[in-house]
Amino acid sequence: MELEKSLALIAGEACVKKDEPMLPHCTFRAGGSAEYFVTAEDESVLKELLEFLSDKGVDHFVLGNGSNVLVSDSGYKGVIIKPGRGFEKIEILDERLKAGSAVSLIKLSMTAAEASLTGLEFASGIPGSIGGAVYMNAGAYGGEIKDCLEYADIIFCDGNVTGVQRLSVSELSLSYRHSLLKEKRGVVVSAGFKLEKGDADAIRARIEELKNLRVLKQPLDHPSAGSTFKRPEGYYAAKLIEEAGFKGLSEGDACVSEKHSGFIVNKGKATASDIYRLMCRVEEGVYKNSGVRLEPEVILLGDF
Ligand SMILES: Cc1cc2nc3c(=O)[nH]c(=O)nc-3n(C[C@H](O)[C@H](O)[C@H](O)COP(=O)(O)OP(=O)(O)OC[C@H]3O[C@@H](n4cnc5c(N)ncnc54)[C@H](O)[C@@H]3O)c2cc1C
Repeated sequence: MELEKSLALIAGEACVKKDEPMLPHCTFRAGGSAEYFVTAEDESVLKELLEFLSDKGVDHFVLGNGSNVLVSDSGYKGVIIKPGRGFEKIEILDERLKAGSAVSLIKLSMTAAEASLTGLEFASGIPGSIGGAVYMNAGAYGGEIKDCLEYADIIFCDGNVTGVQRLSVSELSLSYRHSLLKEKRGVVVSAGFKLEKGDADAIRARIEELKNLRVLKQPLDHPSAGSTFKRPEGYYAAKLIEEAGFKGLSEGDACVSEKHSGFIVNKGKATASDIYRLMCRVEEGVYKNSGVRLEPEVILLGDF
């Protein structure tokens, strides 16, 4: 109760929810509840929240669009922070774009296309937020965030909570599905991108082409978190899974997609445990069959 009151004092009563089901907040449409779910409407609220939670030693986790997170069925004991409206701004200055962490990658790539800026087409079908995309160094079809990112503005909360610090792309140590933020806790407030002038029609055509490819190859008709596993160097996770005979394998309503074995999909009422059990079976089976150890790309939150 004390914690709830303090959170309400910082973020505003309407922005604090207790025992919030995470199912609608995560694209897997599975999992339990967050003990507290707090929307931080602007940067000063976010900073105050981080200071308070760090000071009190309360566990916390920043959520973007929930498109790469699986929350345990027993939920998350702590505070989930979601950057809100104050993080939804996009600014364009010539060939540069600055976007708040809550802006969706899809919206940012559309905005770039409208401004005849090329470089973000690869991201036009990734359902994440800017914050999640920087954290994951999201990428697709030969492009990655690190190719067009110039800097990210971050509040670090690794021990002491800092003011907003601007880190250049090289300081962020971005590599395949990795960033400095996986080692040093921090919250992305906004990010700056440097694109190039291009032809609006050609940019739109490329976006359309990539969209069609996704529709053709990916099981977008069922909830998922995209690729369940990272691509092991020199291999394709989907191919290894298929070769191990796991296409279509299921645990409850969790299923290795028939359309794309790299995706585990929720065919209805899959629990987080179903999904996790299936991930473990696939991981073990692929290791036995090929000697390659798959590593989850999906972030697991809570007890599994
Ligand atoms: C259908 C589908 C297709 C997909 N295709 C792709 C693809 O082609 N390429 C690809 O790379 N990914 C893909 N994904 C996965 C996912 O969209 C990306 O990983 C995305 O970058 C996650 O962003 P998010 O905002 O949803 O992050 P979340 O899932 O909410 O969080 C992921 C991680 O980022 C951290 N995070 C979120 N916001 C912040 C912030 N503001 N500051 C610091 N850390 C933060 C979280 O704490 C968490 O650790 C796909 C997912 C789906 C469902």
